[in-house]
Amino acid sequence: MIKKIYMDHSATTPVREEVVAAMMPYFSKAYGNASSIHGFGQEAKSVLEESREKVADLIGACPEDIIFTGGGTESDNLAIKGALNARKAGGGGHIITSSVEHPAVLRPCEWLEKNGYELTRLPVDSKGLISPSDLESALREDTLLVSVMLANNEVGMLQPVAELAEVVAEHDAVFHTDAVQAVGKIPVDVESLGVDLLSFSAHKFYGPKGVGVLYRRSGVRMEPLQHGGHHENRLRAGTENVAGIVGLARAIELSCTEMATEKERLADMRDRLECGIKERIDDVRVNGAGAERLPHLLNVSIEGVEGESMLLMLDARGIAMSTGSACTSGTLEPSHVLTAIGVSPEVAHGSLRISMGYINTDSEVDYVLESLSDVVQKLREMSPTYQPGGQASS
Ligand code: PLP
Repeated sequence: MIKKIYMDHSATTPVREEVVAAMMPYFSKAYGNASSIHGFGQEAKSVLEESREKVADLIGACPEDIIFTGGGTESDNLAIKGALNARKAGGGGHIITSSVEHPAVLRPCEWLEKNGYELTRLPVDSKGLISPSDLESALREDTLLVSVMLANNEVGMLQPVAELAEVVAEHDAVFHTDAVQAVGKIPVDVESLGVDLLSFSAHKFYGPKGVGVLYRRSGVRMEPLQHGGHHENRLRAGTENVAGIVGLARAIELSCTEMATEKERLADMRDRLECGIKERIDDVRVNGAGAERLPHLLNVSIEGVEGESMLLMLDARGIAMSTGSACTSGTLEPSHVLTAIGVSPEVAHGSLRISMGYINTDSEVDYVLESLSDVVQKLREMSPTYQPGGQASS
């Protein structure tokens, strides 16, 4: 039987057994609505508040600063639109984001741009990093909000969020960070980061899909996006997903407990993968090289091959990864993150994102290295255009 190797943990992760076990009672035994006053409701309310305390404690926040949401996309939208709606009824004003954000931040910012706001997209350098001085120059008197991610989902570089937040703190703007790829992987503490708003999502750290958190520093004004009941401090109407929230809290707890050792193990595997790829395959560019990066993620651009063909051939060998191109309406769009860091569209098309997790082992790294060099060799032999010694090697 073919081996199955999952190395796409930045897309999503398996739910850990301990997490499933923690969630189970809240589906069909303790299934009360946390807003009900009877015993079933009170049981749900009490585990909801325990989960809130646990989550708050693990990111250095107060329980009342935690808003449970339906995932990372919702947390980002609530942070950005909710904070702006509270500051300026009727719209208008200036917002700043970066050119390497996830669509969950870029699309709401673009939507706001179409609806009366001015938008600045900060550039990044060749490592993918934003410079605090560029942010300083972009800030204006009417800047209401700055949103810059903590860890990038494609390349893994970590932005200097604490420094950026310090720059913003001298202005009258709210600072949001999308920490969806960071929480559970690297220490995240809202106080040392100095952010006003921070988003994350359970399914990226072995929790269930469809449940997330928005941290809101107390005093930051916010309007809800969906109107209804008085749930989540009147900021997110809708009966709470108690089982999901319990799962999120258990998952973040496990990830934080194991973080120190797991971070090191993953970084070792990532480095072995990176060295092994460079040894076996010519004309490879390691994206984000030189930047501080997430420990479990490696993004490489391999010249003369096409990302989707690589993925399909690796999939046939049981290996699951991602590429930096998205097939949109029949045209292969190179990743906006890779183009922002200066990778040419042709080279960006041959990109692979390899993201590991606690299920991966050293022997899987060996199998991946062997399979990948074989796949690249086969694809290059078929390529009518590949010339060794091209752009990616520079
Ligand atoms: N932000 C980042 C950086 C992400 O990587 C993702 C998911 O890939 C999201 C936001 C969206 O999170 P969710 O899938 O929970 O909506």
